[in-house]
Amino acid sequence: MAKVLVFIDNPGDVLKKSSLELLTLARSLGEPAVAVNGELTDAVAASLAEYGAAAVLRPSAQDLNDFLVAPKTAFLAAAAETTEADVVLLDNSPEGKEVAARLAIRLNAGVITDVVSVDADGTAHKSVLAGSYTTACKAKTAVSVLTIKANNLEPEPAAAASAPETLTVEVSAGAVPAARITAREQKAASGRPDLTDARVVVAGGRGMDGDFGPVEELADALGAAVGASRAATDAGWISHDAQVGQTGKTVSPQLYISAGISGAIQQKAGMQTSKVIVAVNKDAESPVFEIADFGIIGDVFDVLPQAAAEIRKRK
Ligand code: FAD
Repeated sequence: MAKVLVFIDNPGDVLKKSSLELLTLARSLGEPAVAVNGELTDAVAASLAEYGAAAVLRPSAQDLNDFLVAPKTAFLAAAAETTEADVVLLDNSPEGKEVAARLAIRLNAGVITDVVSVDADGTAHKSVLAGSYTTACKAKTAVSVLTIKANNLEPEPAAAASAPETLTVEVSAGAVPAARITAREQKAASGRPDLTDARVVVAGGRGMDGDFGPVEELADALGAAVGASRAATDAGWISHDAQVGQTGKTVSPQLYISAGISGAIQQKAGMQTSKVIVAVNKDAESPVFEIADFGIIGDVFDVLPQAAAEIRKRK
């Protein structure tokens, strides 16, 4: 049975859905162990047991978050050696990909990013060319490192909860670089789901003309995250964190509502694998309608408030 190591970085108070998806996938491939960096709350520990973690590995050093990714990579490499992992799974965030690449060099492993599913024999299905195609590929090395896109499988608890063994992994002082993070910008919590994890995303573009109110209103009616095109983030109408696309975040929600966005290739790169795409655009010729499952030709300032009001009425 393959030994699978899942990396969970700073889980927070409760495990994110994407972490539960990693654990569910890990169980389908073999026996999962989990390397956790950051605080491990009781709720997170209980979820790890519920989702079948056989072992939980913790770094000997508590200050890995004070640095960029190098010490986390050292921790994960040591955890992979301790568990003799055949497969390491990480989330597909920019940092997850950076850790994956560095880890693969340390472990002499093949790395595959943008993975949407993995077969029992380790064949990974990877989304390429802005989600236009899915290719099947397999690392030729003994160990493979895979970064998994969120929202491609339903998390399922294990048939029986495990009582995971807890192990401490030594992170050598030499792994810790001299440069330390000295300040972080504290963002006010929006109360909305994380963009890359969200099941529903409402995204606005240049068509919002500086007013993201209707996008936020519809997002809140749906319990959705707010996304944006680069035109909207560059204009300063919404934070750069919200940018979806080639140079922004990649999302793959169940529902992506695109409002006042033309659907340029660089925007599509970040959202084309969404399960259902609804586009609202006043130009019937807009390229966004080529990838939309449902299209509404209309003004965002009419359509979005009506949709939000209708959804609220049905709640
Ligand atoms: P536009 O293309 O101007 O489209 C606005 C749309 O809104 C139009 O279709 C218009 O019909 C519609 N509209 C206007 N008013 C209304 C209204 N009242 N009601 C309804 N519809 C209305 N872009 C990204 O999004 N993400 C990226 O990560 C990204 N990375 C890039 C990287 C590079 C290297 C480059 C060169 C570009 C990148 N871009 C990216 C930019 C991209 O090419 C487009 O310029 C951008 O996506 C356009 O944003 P938009 O669709 O909001 O604006």
